[in-house]
Amino acid sequence: MVKSLYGVEEAVNTIWVFVEQSDGVLKTVSLELLAKARELANGAGWPVTALLMGADVRASVPIAFAHGADEVRLAEHPLLADFTVEGYAHVACEALLAAKPSAFLLGATPDGRDLAGRLAVRLRTGLNADCTDLRLDPETGVMVSEVSGFGGGVLALLQMQHHRPQMATFRPGVFPLRAPDPSRHGNVVPIPVTLTPEMLHTHVIERVVGAGLDLSQAPVLVIGGRGVEGDFDTLRELAARLGGEVGATRPPVDEGYIERARQIGQTGVVCRPKLALVCGVSGAFHFVVGIRDAETVIAINNDPEAEIFKHADYCVIGDVREVLPAVLEQLKLHSGC
Ligand SMILES: Cc1cc2nc3c(=O)[nH]c(=O)nc-3n(C[C@H](O)[C@H](O)[C@H](O)COP(=O)(O)OP(=O)(O)OC[C@H]3O[C@@H](n4cnc5c(N)ncnc54)[C@H](O)[C@@H]3O)c2cc1C
Repeated sequence: MVKSLYGVEEAVNTIWVFVEQSDGVLKTVSLELLAKARELANGAGWPVTALLMGADVRASVPIAFAHGADEVRLAEHPLLADFTVEGYAHVACEALLAAKPSAFLLGATPDGRDLAGRLAVRLRTGLNADCTDLRLDPETGVMVSEVSGFGGGVLALLQMQHHRPQMATFRPGVFPLRAPDPSRHGNVVPIPVTLTPEMLHTHVIERVVGAGLDLSQAPVLVIGGRGVEGDFDTLRELAARLGGEVGATRPPVDEGYIERARQIGQTGVVCRPKLALVCGVSGAFHFVVGIRDAETVIAINNDPEAEIFKHADYCVIGDVREVLPAVLEQLKLHSGC
């Protein structure tokens, strides 16, 4: 068996979280992970460390504390201004080897996945990818990650007995976002950055936000039609809570309520989510082809004769303006925030 660069005996009982930022704004998934790490650390009596890398990101430190970090390891350098896997992996690897945390959690974002894979190989440890839950045995310090596979048909529990750090990535929305506590403070530990331009083979020329959106991969889609009357904020909130994405029919796209990349249907994206929550949509053929492979379709429409009900597993006859807030309220009640 290949040994990790540091093992169980040397590992320090602490949970590290990669706190991902873009233009100095922390990603929501990182804050969700800090909250989860805080919860697990409280049970085990461990501290939580946020690893924050970037060019000028010190302003985000209090946010990391407010969301659960006890300590922030801060790496600031002009070469960290844009995410490059070489730069971030180099700095993170040195920081991890210096501190030897028992666990390291990352968001399953494009950059988080890229970094996690690279680090796992460098550290010769394992990586539990795209986990849907996490537990920590306070006695042994072993983490148990839950992963679903085979289209959700199998739920596997994974644990690393011998390798450290115990690395895992989590999709946005898997853990609830807790309210920040601005009274929390902690230590800021600067990380020496030994990067040189020659070490970076990736040069970011331009960043196009949103171009990477791929609705076809979304496990949950909350789709709004003309019937939502442009209120996509409620749908966005719902999609975030369900760990999914927002889609739309053609009319709201044509009317400029939402970007074209989110149009579902014949001239949009064809998807096969586990769940499609279809709100205020009549069920025209051009739209239905985009969701007919969904595992479960729930349709909400105030017209009992709406065509969409013929394609739905669950039919809710009602006004989206009443039904959606009620669903959100229930989700908040059950997630505790
Ligand atoms: C060549 C071609 C390609 C096309 N490609 C696409 C495509 O890719 N995707 C696509 O979506 N469309 C496409 N269309 C358009 C498509 O034919 C339909 O016109 C469109 O899907 C209708 O969108 P809708 O259901 O949101 O609107 P509508 O048909 O106007 O339906 C709105 C629905 O909302 C309900 N509603 C209204 N208010 C409420 C409320 N308060 N609460 C609950 N329900 C309410 C109504 O009862 C109604 O059923 C295409 C058309 C053509 C000709």
